[in-house]
Amino acid sequence: MKELQKRIEKAKLPEHALKAALKELKRLKSLPVQFPEHSVARNYLETLLDLPWSSSTTDTLDLQAARLTLEADHYGLQPVKKRVLEYLAVCQLTQGLKGPILCLVGAPGVGKTSIGRSVAKTLCRKFHRISLGGVCDQSDIRGHRRTYIGSLPGRIMAGLRTVGVRNPVFLLDEVDKLTRGGVHGDPAAALLEVLDPEQNSSFVDHYVGLPFDLSKILFIATANSVATIPAALLDRMEVLEVQGYTSEEKVEIAVRHLLPKQLKQHGLTPDQLTIPPSTLATIANNYTREAGVRGLERNIGAICRSVAVKVAENRGESGKTTPTVVTETMLGDILGPQKFEHEVSERLTRPGVAVGLAWTGMGGEILFIEASRMPGSGELTLTGQLGDVMKESAQIAFNWLRSNASRYGVQCDVPKETDLHIHFPAGAIGKDGPSAGVAIAVALVSLYSRRCVRSDTAMTGEITLRGLVLPVGGIKEKLLAAQRAGIRHVVLPKRNEKDLVELPVNVKVILCCAPLAIMLQKLHHSSILLLQNQLEVSLVSTVEEALTKTFDGGLAPISKL
Ligand code: ADP
Repeated sequence: MKELQKRIEKAKLPEHALKAALKELKRLKSLPVQFPEHSVARNYLETLLDLPWSSSTTDTLDLQAARLTLEADHYGLQPVKKRVLEYLAVCQLTQGLKGPILCLVGAPGVGKTSIGRSVAKTLCRKFHRISLGGVCDQSDIRGHRRTYIGSLPGRIMAGLRTVGVRNPVFLLDEVDKLTRGGVHGDPAAALLEVLDPEQNSSFVDHYVGLPFDLSKILFIATANSVATIPAALLDRMEVLEVQGYTSEEKVEIAVRHLLPKQLKQHGLTPDQLTIPPSTLATIANNYTREAGVRGLERNIGAICRSVAVKVAENRGESGKTTPTVVTETMLGDILGPQKFEHEVSERLTRPGVAVGLAWTGMGGEILFIEASRMPGSGELTLTGQLGDVMKESAQIAFNWLRSNASRYGVQCDVPKETDLHIHFPAGAIGKDGPSAGVAIAVALVSLYSRRCVRSDTAMTGEITLRGLVLPVGGIKEKLLAAQRAGIRHVVLPKRNEKDLVELPVNVKVILCCAPLAIMLQKLHHSSILLLQNQLEVSLVSTVEEALTKTFDGGLAPISKL
């Protein structure tokens, strides 16, 4: 009791907390140790004293240093770094952090958490990560009332107790994965109170039961996709998109950051293990298919482990180690057979197959669409776990073709005699969204005209019954995915042209001629942009135009409308 008394005196509690603490101490003194209430009261008092009521770290906000730290920790990501610096500059000028909460949105492994950590480092603040994935109960955020046995403070207070200062950087990881439990209140609503600068200066945790000032905390949120962030929460945040990387960028990141980090973690030095950039590129292209670099890092880790065994064995025998240079041919032995191949051209050797581009929280992906017909009773079957929107897209594409069949000279059979089956492989993964419309239409035309789609082409775009092509989202991620999969030509909706101009710097690496090409296009009225000889983009506004771009030698209608 004396110890607790001393701690209360030393803790520099604000008045309301001091009062509560003294009251609790008095109650504790009157409770016999055997009583369960004794330990409850004691735990409460200790929590109260552990909370950083007045201790804080001093911010060292030197913008020049912040810029250097961000540059040193991360390769690329220029728009994100720029925005973070702007945010820090405003903080410095206003001496406060009242502003929108930054929310970094991007595929896994693109460096969101790592940027949060860098911000804490530049400010010399303590860093704490709160994972919100799967949180379905508001008491996870706001704590349980003390009337429950085993009640605990919420994650915010628990975090503050861990870091021991009242102005840390809190990274709210995966805000898009908050689930709504229903019975126990909505965690997003509780989080709203935490994040709202108007309310969070007197946040009351149910367990602590006293207002605590959260306004000194710098919150940064991360998410994989904006679509699933609760709307009210999204309203409080400023979304900063973190793009995926091209394979050249991945190699740069690996050389500068991932390899040195893995070598250190495995107790190796650069003299003992060298992985040349060409090998890193093979790993990035053939052993991983991802927007971020986490898989690449894991594979580098696997190489380090296998070399570590050799180094440890050799050391036992002769005391000195021979340097290992990992060549591409050695990868098979260390990492096993290649996991991904550029299979696109192989699969497009038959009519009725087209490549679409999809966009998910994991980044962009290519999507095969297979159509096949057979004698039957006029049924349209769609498989591949499709959502309603995608099913409707397929219906629209089919009906567009039926109404235009004669113009293309294709025999679109009377549905009574044949069945049509459209399948989206990777059948176990759910898919939805309107953006496969163009690709379905192309696959169907290919099936009925018995001509193959260009093997190097992928496409995306929503279609209407009249055959117009409407814009879709996620163009940047889709282009990166196409490039990863070895596609050379992409068909995009004309109205997505603005997304090409707005491509962030890290995408412009592959699309470096884009602004020039767009200028040329305006001059020559052509719809083809050459993007550093790697990715050719055709902009189309109707299905008709899309068909001329996706078949070798084009496919023009034989009669006008
Ligand atoms: P996320 O939070 O986006 O899922 P992380 O921040 O955990 O991803 O990043 C995964 C790994 O990739 C980390 O080791 C990080 O340092 C590294 N990384 C990602 N992007 C970059 C980059 N641009 N420069 C250097 N390292 C990076």
